[in-house]
Amino acid sequence: MSVEGNSKMKRLLSVVVSVYNEEAVLEQFYQETVRVLDGIGWDSELIFVNDGSVDSSLRILTGLADRDGRVKVVSFSRNFGHEAAMIAGIDYSSGDGILCMDADLQHPPECIPGIIRKLEEGYQVINMVRTKNKSAGLIKNLTSAAFYNLINALSDVHFENNASDFFAVSREVAEVLKSSYRERVRFLRGYVQNVGFKRTTIEYEARARAAGESKYSIRKLFRFSVNTIVCFSNLPLKLGIYAGLLAGILGLIVLIYTLLTRRGAPDGYATIVVLICFMFAILFLIVGIIGEYISILFTEMKDRPIYIVERTENLEKK
Ligand code: UDP
Ligand code: MG
Repeated sequence: MSVEGNSKMKRLLSVVVSVYNEEAVLEQFYQETVRVLDGIGWDSELIFVNDGSVDSSLRILTGLADRDGRVKVVSFSRNFGHEAAMIAGIDYSSGDGILCMDADLQHPPECIPGIIRKLEEGYQVINMVRTKNKSAGLIKNLTSAAFYNLINALSDVHFENNASDFFAVSREVAEVLKSSYRERVRFLRGYVQNVGFKRTTIEYEARARAAGESKYSIRKLFRFSVNTIVCFSNLPLKLGIYAGLLAGILGLIVLIYTLLTRRGAPDGYATIVVLICFMFAILFLIVGIIGEYISILFTEMKDRPIYIVERTENLEKK
């Protein structure tokens, strides 16, 4: 049941691209993407979200916007992060389908026709799953796999392994994301995988970054992983209960043993010190975990904006 050709009006695809210091690839990205967009049978708009770049990215983007009316630019007042950029792009999009992708051509534009086909078949969430990540080193690939295993074990929702920030959603899903997922600390691709609707995945082979360098350091990724776990799972909070139970049972066993054998205290200085250190370690760890949750509560409570738009091109500022 193809919807194709049923309507005279062409449908619109919004391509959301987050840009942070990508001067080296923008022109190439634009050329390659537009070439593909010309052949999909849909109208298209390219929404570039400039996430506070400090190089000449913004100048290149305004140049593109002057040349081509399909190019729209949302420029942040400073760096707010990749996720904020994608959220802004979705906020400003007006397409029937919205596709988020990176500016560095790691998400190959050749995938777009396949995505369009799925949208036409009526799928509302299309997750692109990478089969290979050429540019990421072994460590990044391993940590990424470990992260997905951990988060799947901890939370009640399921995350696709290797899901990337490369996904497409229908207008309906975009509206849900716009209205209901406005958390300050968030994991957009997690939400996308868990809003329900008719979903599918497409495999793709990630290309190597066309130029420039990755903006994610291991430290940033670690922060990101902690936030995600805290956002999607309450299990770490329960760690305290289990640790308490364990310590209690241990104490009880020692008590019973001492009572039954009626022996005086055996000398075991090391045992005691090790035990105390061990117990305090667990205790402080749990306090730290609670701290993580409180810090996120605090951030949410302050209700600061997810992003601040300084200027736009070819778009009405909201
Ligand atoms: N990006 C962004 N804000 C940031 C960091 C990155 O908008 O603070 C953009 C970046 O320009 C790129 C995408 O997010 O289009 C993915 O970043 P990157 O390629 O550095 O990450 P990687 O592919 O190495 O995970
Ligand atoms: Mg990249």
